[in-house]
Amino acid sequence: MRIVTVPCRSDNYAYLLICEETKKAAVVDPSEAAPVLAAIDAAGVTCAAIWNTHHHYDHIEGNEAIAKKFSECEVVGHKSDRGRIPSQTSYVGDGDELTVGTQIRARVLFNPGHTAGAISYFLESSSAVFTGDTLFAAGCGRLFEGTTEQMHASLTSLTELPPATRVYCGHEYTESNLRFAAAVEPDNVAIAERIAAVEGKRAEGIDTMGFSVADELATNVFVRTDMAQVRESARRESGITSTEPSEIFAGLRAWKDRL
Ligand code: ZN
Ligand code: FE
Repeated sequence: MRIVTVPCRSDNYAYLLICEETKKAAVVDPSEAAPVLAAIDAAGVTCAAIWNTHHHYDHIEGNEAIAKKFSECEVVGHKSDRGRIPSQTSYVGDGDELTVGTQIRARVLFNPGHTAGAISYFLESSSAVFTGDTLFAAGCGRLFEGTTEQMHASLTSLTELPPATRVYCGHEYTESNLRFAAAVEPDNVAIAERIAAVEGKRAEGIDTMGFSVADELATNVFVRTDMAQVRESARRESGITSTEPSEIFAGLRAWKDRL
């Protein structure tokens, strides 16, 4: 299985997952059709599936044009997103299994918070997870439809995947997320090191996707709600006196939303 990152719009990523044996592919979150169709063409593959992580326009607007071009293409989204995802043909829930060709096998993880029907696609045998706008590199999506408890639980469950799992998310927000992380946890050396590595990549025009769950455990302040400095920052900036992880999370999210 091979993963091709397809930059879309100003800072979105779609992904082309290729089964090299059958030349069948799955596309994750085609936010526009043209760059994804170009990547499909360049790889010489047939698009067998579109996997949407959630209904937002910047994840689904390429659906119709791609599905039209590949008549066998199934369009997958959460069952609660029925009517909100164009061309949807498959309505999935937590734990459902998906296969494309012989090499691509994914399990659906229900991750509400950013939206009510947000899901991730976990490819255990390929050690990869596609998280949409739930888990970002060193950050997380805003809460549009879910509660802070839901989002915190979703992030926690994603960071309980095997630490070597590679994460591919919906946006290139890594540098700004890490700047916020450094403000929350100024003494965290792993954050400083990750900033240096990410700045190097971005200066060369390289994307920062395919980071690891282990990277997130070390540098994502939204899942580091047990750390003293994270709690202290949530107290100082948002007045959170509770040590309840989801409340610390809510304090951090509110602080970042104000920036
Ligand atoms: Zn979104
Ligand atoms: Fe998005």
